[in-house]
Amino acid sequence: MQCPFCGTTLADDAATCNNCDWTRRGELETAEGKASDAIAVLLSVVPGLGHIYKGHKLVGMMLMFVGTPMAVGLALLIATGTAGFGILVLPVFWMAVMVHVYASQDRVLPATNDGGEEY
Ligand SMILES: [Zn+2]
Repeated sequence: MQCPFCGTTLADDAATCNNCDWTRRGELETAEGKASDAIAVLLSVVPGLGHIYKGHKLVGMMLMFVGTPMAVGLALLIATGTAGFGILVLPVFWMAVMVHVYASQDRVLPATNDGGEEY
């Protein structure tokens, strides 16, 4: 990247300019948002935890206490009729939670809008 003030070539993740007093104030939040995506996905090992981490507390709670028991119950239900193959629903659900939390806006950031369906 280049410094927006003086045009000095800087490292892509540079927070300050070596040549002038520019600091990456606005973009720092975006960088943290991207970092938290990875953490949120990791936290989604427990479905819902990643959503809570991102500030979507209600969605996270729903996933953890409603969505996951329902997914497990559904998987077991299907599994009884499909000689156990229904249990494969669980990894799909799990992946969906991880993809969703990755795509979700970090609610901690101001002035972002992911459609409002989760607010
Ligand atoms: Zn500069």
